[in-house]
Amino acid sequence: MKPILLLSALLCSGLIYSAEREVGVAVFGSDKFTEYVPGDLPLVISSPHGGKLKPEAVANRTYGVRSEDSNTQDLARRIAAEVKKATGRQMPLIISHLHRSKLDPNREIKEAAQGDKTAEKVWGEYHAFIEEALKAAVARHGKAFFIDLHGQSHADVRVELGYLHAAPDYGKPAAEMNVPEFIKAGSLALIMKLNPDLEYTALLHGPESLGSLLEARGFRATPSPRMPVPSEPYYRGGYTVFRHVPENPKVAGLQVEANRVRLRDTPEGRQRFAEALVSALQVYLPRFMKLGLDGK
Ligand SMILES: [Zn+2]
Repeated sequence: MKPILLLSALLCSGLIYSAEREVGVAVFGSDKFTEYVPGDLPLVISSPHGGKLKPEAVANRTYGVRSEDSNTQDLARRIAAEVKKATGRQMPLIISHLHRSKLDPNREIKEAAQGDKTAEKVWGEYHAFIEEALKAAVARHGKAFFIDLHGQSHADVRVELGYLHAAPDYGKPAAEMNVPEFIKAGSLALIMKLNPDLEYTALLHGPESLGSLLEARGFRATPSPRMPVPSEPYYRGGYTVFRHVPENPKVAGLQVEANRVRLRDTPEGRQRFAEALVSALQVYLPRFMKLGLDGK
């Protein structure tokens, strides 16, 4: 086999990535401020706002949100553990360990690092890990599903599913939503390509939507059949999903904003949500991504 053919064969099989990274063995960016656990499944999760480290060598950010999304790192690890229980395999995981007062990886570099050279470097490493994880998942499975995991404490206690549309956009007439221009502005365009007969509004808040599956498992969520138009404040999805999903034709995904009360605030709540989300994805991914959680 010619070297170039061998290379493309390796890329297609995903072997080239497993040769560079060992599945399940964490690798770290500089000063261990970012962590990447390589996996061999098509579901990729990132946790940007659960970091605890406040090294003096990194300057404090002086504007923008600087408080952490409490317990989201633990929640991400619990989700990965549930995925392992269900599939016997490792899900790729990207974690930021710097406290948000030092770095906000879910902003463009200027607001994220606010001029600190170390924070800028760490920001680059964090997003390079996400890129690598998605590329490896696409090479192995042909497509990938990405979740950027956050926490919020809005007065209406519910999980917010951010598909990049602003809250008022969900109130538009269906005829304005079920069109290519609107779909393209969201983070699920790949699913619409895979399911030509599917109505976009059904995917966002119909009976088979992720919001509906979470509500059936005991977690209020929006958008969902109960609340198709999210009440405000609502997080639509931020820098990370905007950067890594719409421009990537083989990736669909969203920003998940877990509520604090009755979810993030106790180990039991986090465990119940990890189980509910994984159970919901075991229905959602085969139905819409044509791909099981186990990659088959
Ligand atoms: Zn957040």
